[in-house]
Order: sequence, then C-alpha cells, then structure tokens
Amino acid sequence: MLTTVVGSYPAIPQKPKSLYSKISNVLGSYDQYIPAIEIAVEDQVNAGIDIISDGQVRGNMIEIFAENIIGMDVQKGISRIIGKIKPSNHSLYASDLKFALKKAQNISTDYKNPNKTASKLFKKNVFNTNFKGIKGIITGPTTLVLSCRIEGFYNINKKEEIIMDMAAVLKKEANELQNAGAAMIQIDEPFLSTNIVNINTAKKALKIIIEDLNIPISIHVCGEIGEILNDLLKFPVQIIDCEFAGNPSNISSFEQEYNSSKKIGFGCINTKNKNIENIDQISALIKKGVNIIGEENMIIDPDCGMRMFSRDTALLKLKTMKEAVEWL
Ligand SMILES: [Zn+2]
Repeated sequence: MLTTVVGSYPAIPQKPKSLYSKISNVLGSYDQYIPAIEIAVEDQVNAGIDIISDGQVRGNMIEIFAENIIGMDVQKGISRIIGKIKPSNHSLYASDLKFALKKAQNISTDYKNPNKTASKLFKKNVFNTNFKGIKGIITGPTTLVLSCRIEGFYNINKKEEIIMDMAAVLKKEANELQNAGAAMIQIDEPFLSTNIVNINTAKKALKIIIEDLNIPISIHVCGEIGEILNDLLKFPVQIIDCEFAGNPSNISSFEQEYNSSKKIGFGCINTKNKNIENIDQISALIKKGVNIIGEENMIIDPDCGMRMFSRDTALLKLKTMKEAVEWL
C-alpha cells in the first residue's frame, strides 16, 4: 500500500546563519522558509513516505492563497476578498514544489548510492527512503471563499460566482504544479463536510480546476462525511481522502455506501491528538479499511495536516504509520 501525507508539516523557519545567507538577508533575497521546506522533505522521506509534500510551511491553508491571489489580502490575520479575483502572472507555489522535489530526489540518490558510507548518510540524517513523488496541494475554491471575509466587488449573496472565479485562478496554479513535476494534485476541501456548502457548486468548480490535468487528482475532506459520501463518490477524481482515526463514524459510512473502484486516502493517524498511536492500533484500523475498501484501493496517510504538532511528534507519527503498513 502506498503511503502519503495530507500536506502541512510543522514549519521551522530559520534566521540566516551562514555568511552567505546573512549577505542574502541584507540584499533581501534570503528566504527563511527554504530551510523549513528542507526539514519537511527530509523528515517525510526518512519516515519512508512514498508521496510527500513540500510541507506547506509558509502559513495556514487559507493565508498562503489569500496573500498571493489578485483580489485578496490578509489583514490582521483575516483573509479577505476585496476585489475581482484574477490569476496572477506567476505561479504561487510551483518553485517550492520544484525545490522540494529536487531535495527528495537528492536524498534518495544518496541513499541508493553504494559509495555513500553509512556515516555520511547518518550525518545527513538519511535512514530510509521509499520516495516516489511529490503532490501539488491546492486549497479548494469552496473552502477558500467560505473562509474569507467578502468586502468588495462581489455580491456576498452570490457565492457561486465568487467560487467559479476562484476556480479559474486555482486551475492555473494546478497546471503550474503539474508542469513543475507534481505526481498528483490534491484539492483540500475541508468545508465540504459542513452543511453550509452547496455540493453541486463545489463539484462544478472542481471540474474547472482539473479539466486540463493528466495526473491523478485527490480531494481531501475533513470531518464526518456520512452526509456527503454518496455525492463525493461521484466526483470526477481518482482519490477521495478522508479521516478515519479521529472520525470512526466514517468507517460505518463507507461500510454502507462504498461500492466503487475509487481509491481512498485512508487517514489512520489522529492529527488532533498529539499522543503517538501504537502499531497495533493503526494496523487494526487499516484492517477494518481493507475489509470494506480493499487493499488495492487504499492509500495510507494521516487524517489531516500536521502543522500544529512539534517536529518530533509529526516525525514519530509518520514513522509509526509506516511501520504499521510494513508490519501488515
Ligand atoms: Zn483535513
């Protein structure tokens, strides 16, 4: 079974330390998040994860888009829509994805190179790798619009119009991430499980984003999905990613509704609780999933992003998850 992450990893931005980075800092070209991406990639690769992310270290899933899309901003921590939403002429996160991909490829090559001695790898913190690719991650248009304060241009009661404009912007970004080397695209729509969402609008918007992509598409939905699972299973995506560790009722929902060949991202690590699961616990949950979904349709991952954890907790949770999969 393939393993992956949902996306975010504890962000550890670093002040410039070396002479070179201090000079770049003076020149205004130092990027404190580059070391944070390196840490996220190194940890995911070392935990043995197959499909990694760049760690989404630059901020929360709403801000990182609101800060960079024309017609949006973030003021005093509040993400807002203040004008007509339009694509900018540069990609938002393709260069982070490229950087993370290169880093992961380098670690894998080092690991597979017989000339690299164990001590060299140890110094570089490389213990393991199953790295196969990196996913591009996009916060879905429905979630983005419903998370923002709408303060200009749009009629607040015509959410569909705003969501479609947002979808057009995100489509461009999804294409850029594909061109940058993403092995798949994941669209995060945590809001779909709340009853404030129009599921048909969400589906229409999703179709706009993915129409030109030719890599696998996943949709991640947080929380209890019982009410919308039937609709979700009809979304034009290859993978539906849900939380099963923190939301046991999702198991019974799948028991009742799942009868397709869609792949399921099977969240089996609780991302709301910092206690580390034990291997028995995780493998028992995965076994339940196998009985309902079938091993061939399962991709194993944590429930949700791991941004709120310490680095140690996040790494240990990932390693334990991987061990449980290997043990099975
Ligand atoms: Zn989630």
